[in-house]
Amino acid sequence: MVKKENKIEEIARRRGIFWTSSDIYGGVSGMYDYGHIGTLIKRKWENTWRKYFLGLNGNFFEIDCRNMMPDKVFKASGHVDSFVDPITKCRKCGGIERADHLVESILEGNFEGLSPGELTKLIREHRIKCPKCGGEMEEVGILNMMFPVMIGSSLGYLRPETAQGAYVSFPREFEVSRKRLPLGLAILGRAYRNEISPRNLLIRMREFDQAELQIFFNPDMINDHESFNEISLYNLRILSVDSRKSGIVHEISCKDVSVKLPKFYVYYMAMIQKFYLDVLGLPPEKFRFRELSDEEKAFYNKYHWDIELDIESMDGFREVGGIHYRTDHDLAGHQKVSGRDMDIFHDGKKFIPHVLELSFGIDRNVYAVLDMGFVEEMVGQEERTTLRLPRALSPFDCAVLPLVKRDGMDAKALEIRKTLTAAGMDVFYDDSGSIGRRYRRMDEIGVAACITVDSDTIASGTVTLRDRDTMKQVLIKDRDLAGKMRLYISGEPAESLGNAVIVKPEKNPDMNSGFTYSAQGK
Ligand code: AMP
Repeated sequence: MVKKENKIEEIARRRGIFWTSSDIYGGVSGMYDYGHIGTLIKRKWENTWRKYFLGLNGNFFEIDCRNMMPDKVFKASGHVDSFVDPITKCRKCGGIERADHLVESILEGNFEGLSPGELTKLIREHRIKCPKCGGEMEEVGILNMMFPVMIGSSLGYLRPETAQGAYVSFPREFEVSRKRLPLGLAILGRAYRNEISPRNLLIRMREFDQAELQIFFNPDMINDHESFNEISLYNLRILSVDSRKSGIVHEISCKDVSVKLPKFYVYYMAMIQKFYLDVLGLPPEKFRFRELSDEEKAFYNKYHWDIELDIESMDGFREVGGIHYRTDHDLAGHQKVSGRDMDIFHDGKKFIPHVLELSFGIDRNVYAVLDMGFVEEMVGQEERTTLRLPRALSPFDCAVLPLVKRDGMDAKALEIRKTLTAAGMDVFYDDSGSIGRRYRRMDEIGVAACITVDSDTIASGTVTLRDRDTMKQVLIKDRDLAGKMRLYISGEPAESLGNAVIVKPEKNPDMNSGFTYSAQGK
């Protein structure tokens, strides 16, 4: 049986979603390029994120910083010394493996955060060999994950996270935004990590994108948030360290979670969960927060919970983001190395602001929705593959399809496309091939609605809207289409937008993708 991961990879390549970068030269492991459909989906995710997270507070803004930064930045942040992976080399073939992953592939459990000595011991005790040639592995050492670059004649690094750009911009942005706290600085952009064993398609790459929001705040306020009451009874889906063995996710109210974690932190946990469940509409059981143990926490975090999504083709829950209380670790580090005073005066007090970071891996999130949406089913005698993406992430809001390229249907369809585009929608137009095949193509890239222009459109001004997931069709007056499409994108079921069309099975293109139009019409 073909694995789901391979099926997604195949459809991604065939339909222009993503593929291995520089593949005509054999590809580069850990690097993927997005085709035009993938780019549209990724942009939709980014714009949905932007609109939601920047909308949480009038003092949250997006900035755009460089991907390369001088080495001093990463000395100050601690990445030069601490952003390392444990590695081990095969004595026979010279292959390099990430030691904790190698151990994990043989033994049950998570070995992140163990020291090189502890990992060497496990490798020796359990006689773990090279996965490629069976050779013996060397002592575990460490390797810095950053890519060094020469900027002119000075050493720099490609940033391993977007965050540092926000920290070095903080003093200016604080001035510009009239010295108000909390101040949120978001960056959406590339991050680079020289992963030893990149794997799992978009999940572990060497060049990837992040969406990160750094919230600078007064540490005296950590136990409060002005809107906490609004979410106090809202249940968070939590996997604490204590529940790891059972794997049971508990639903706990924000009020109860705040006994253990500061309210400012818990408030943003709630906002993150609402983004996934309410804005993207993912099923609740696919989402959870996972507490990290002290050994697993990143070196700069006081509180660190991962955001996880259940990704079936990656064997279950995977980290797609995190909520990190970084204290004043970064600003204090930059103050020390740059000599620039990071203290501010606020509410009559002098202090270095603390930072709460909401961090998301964009590619992992995109892959997760591709995985969750991937459905294969039999329709009549034919197999149908659909990407049931959240409507907000559909690469096109709709496709406009003239049933045939004559009798004025193509001209009318082009006119409808123009009207919808002018109304701000992303519209795909396709007039070639049987209507059934065109539906299939749109299903495979996740287009939420197909608008079909047929002889009735010419005769009485109605089009059909076909819903991707249910394949149900409803009739809509062409002059109402833009308004109804807007409702549809926001989540209204197709049935509420117009009268259902009853299509006889033998005339239904969804039952037979080769269906061609006959003069008798539908
Ligand atoms: P971190 O700074 O390690 O907490 O990373 C923040 C987020 O970036 C993670 O939650 C992932 O979603 C994403 N991420 C980290 N490393 C990679 C990678 N190698 N490939 C793709 N995404 C990554």
